Amino acid sequence: MPELPEVETIRLKLWPLLVGRRIVRARVLRKDIVGFPAARGFESGVAGRTITELRRRGKYLIVGLDRGGELVFHLRLSGHLAVVDRDRKVEYERARFELTGDKALSFAEPRALGRVYLVQASRYPKALAGMLKMGLEPIHDDFDAAYLHDRLRGRTASVKSLLLDQRVACGVGNIYSDEALFRAGIRPLRRAGSLEKAEVVRLARVLAEVLRDGIKWCGTTMGDGRYRLPDGGTGSFQKRLAVFGREGERCQRRGCAGEIRRQKLGGRSTHFCPVCQR
Ligand SMILES: [Zn+2]
Repeated sequence: MPELPEVETIRLKLWPLLVGRRIVRARVLRKDIVGFPAARGFESGVAGRTITELRRRGKYLIVGLDRGGELVFHLRLSGHLAVVDRDRKVEYERARFELTGDKALSFAEPRALGRVYLVQASRYPKALAGMLKMGLEPIHDDFDAAYLHDRLRGRTASVKSLLLDQRVACGVGNIYSDEALFRAGIRPLRRAGSLEKAEVVRLARVLAEVLRDGIKWCGTTMGDGRYRLPDGGTGSFQKRLAVFGREGERCQRRGCAGEIRRQKLGGRSTHFCPVCQR
């Protein structure tokens, strides 16, 4: 599933292709892909609007439109956005936005789990209510040790499950939480409230660091969903992962003889080194 670095990469790549273009016509090819409003109102509401900017909030990509409109994309597991020539067909296409300049923004989603919403002036429908409760973005300066400490202290839940909680660390998912906890030397199943101050300081720092690295390498393409860049290319952070997807391999930390282990935690796989993650 695309996490913060993947959605940010998509945003950066789409920006020069979309901003300043007008949406001539929108076509919904599968109705349930539109989360709000109903498909017909969605099509007429989008037509004629000019794209003014692209923003991101957590794992959501927000296409800013003139007159205060916003197209909010949630790619879920396998949603894919591409700008194509207007007459080009796209496999599993669920919605298409015809643009000026004979181009089209295509929203493809093989599993049809992803969604797009049209909202006005940040008045989010119920399905997007979670966006209003999101915590800080770990790559922003205000996400510091004090903030993280405040969210983790006294909590009996595992530190990993709290990192996945969008109200704590917005945009973080399974891959980057495992990688951050490895860099911080913290076992994912530790009770969040048991972390020492120095560990929280380290965790806040490496969380930002690993997400920035993910952006630098255009995200992680592996496993389910096969995230791709808008031009169809792949990210390359998967080559730099230390623990995620590396069960059975030798730990990369210098001097550590540990073997990476995988464990189920709340239906997800968690990867860690049993030797150097306390
Ligand atoms: Zn190790």
